[in-house]
Amino acid sequence: MATNAELFERASRSIPGGVNSPVRAFRSVGGTPRFIARAVGPYVWDAEGKRYIDYVGSWGPAILGHAHPDVVRAVQEAAVHGLSFGAPTEAEIELAELLIQRLPSMEQVRLVSSGTEATMTAIRLARGATGRKKIIKFEGCYHGHADSLLVKAGSGLLTFGNPTSAGVPAEFVEHTLVLDYNDLDGVGAAFEEYGEDIACIIVEPVAGNMNLVKPRAGFLEGLRELCTRHGALLIFDEVMTGFRVGPQGVQGLTGIKPDLTTLAKVIGGGMPVGAFGGSADVMRHIAPLGGVYQAGTLSGNPVAVAAGLATMRLIAAPGFYEHLTAQTRKLAEGLQSRARAAGLAFSADAIGGMFGMYFSAHVPASLAEVSAADVNAFKHFFHAMLDRGVHFAPSAFEAGFVSATHDDAVIEETLDAAEAVFKDMKQV
Ligand code: PMP
Repeated sequence: MATNAELFERASRSIPGGVNSPVRAFRSVGGTPRFIARAVGPYVWDAEGKRYIDYVGSWGPAILGHAHPDVVRAVQEAAVHGLSFGAPTEAEIELAELLIQRLPSMEQVRLVSSGTEATMTAIRLARGATGRKKIIKFEGCYHGHADSLLVKAGSGLLTFGNPTSAGVPAEFVEHTLVLDYNDLDGVGAAFEEYGEDIACIIVEPVAGNMNLVKPRAGFLEGLRELCTRHGALLIFDEVMTGFRVGPQGVQGLTGIKPDLTTLAKVIGGGMPVGAFGGSADVMRHIAPLGGVYQAGTLSGNPVAVAAGLATMRLIAAPGFYEHLTAQTRKLAEGLQSRARAAGLAFSADAIGGMFGMYFSAHVPASLAEVSAADVNAFKHFFHAMLDRGVHFAPSAFEAGFVSATHDDAVIEETLDAAEAVFKDMKQV
């Protein structure tokens, strides 16, 4: 049996950094990534056979816990009938109808294979539909890795301390205006200066790529109002929050209607599915109806769609979000109270099945505040918890995810481990 270290060494010879997505490499926390051999419910097992309680949840999709039997069965049944056709299927209609039914802001939706494709195309569509060039994004928000969105972005870029990617010519991002999250005055000023040129605002309506940062009261309402007044489109990037914070995403919690919504993660149930949608009036600009091009060999893939459909049906069960929210809150409140009892400056926050934890006295409201937290304390906590069999995201700039299978016993086991670690940390 190969160890994690042996696998990492071997992986690093054939794969850059040994991983196929940067944050997996543990670069900001140091040490060896765990190579996962299997996962069930709230647990993952690494190549050495060690079990962990998992709060990465595949970075969001695993809302039902890993390998839910109904989802696995749906995938197996779909696979038997063929893996990919490059022609339309009835299951795609069913998934589209389900999404439209759950998100009232959507009249039409196009399925893609990742969040990156969804956001990249939503931006193109906003520009195509308005005939304008400029876009507004916020510092610390991550919207996938399309060139024009890789400016002062979050997630892996923050983890590596380099929020703007090399390889993106300045000319490619000259129309991307980057503003501070939760700073409505800044957005107002941008519209004063560039109003007629601004095609859209793209925002994580609850940010999860600079740790968890919630919108201040009035922020999202203000974005809606400014977009409407200036003829720009409001894009809610709900790739992470969609069906994660509640049954209708952040738009359901706030009642704010974006012009376009991007989705991925939960809607694919662990398989590659993304989506973007909005009013029929905006969506008519997409090919083959309109001139804004978008396509995908594997878009609406039948096996992926089967996983998504099975997941979407299961999360519609009565009480699903009440339970998920309660479990997540128990975790966040339990972490905070135990850390503070140990005398540490620590805060935690939660919304639906998403949580943030910060080695700082207050819950942050911007990237600057998140960045001021104690990163070394996080590293210590992360590794000590990993040793005790609890796998959090390996970065202080990521949100955490709870699944419906994180029952009281799992949360208690986590909190017991955290209590011991917090007490040790205070003595260091
Ligand atoms: N938008 C948001 C808000 C995300 O969290 C992510 C991924 N973490 C993306 C877009 C990109 O999605 P993907 O990794 O599926 O391309």
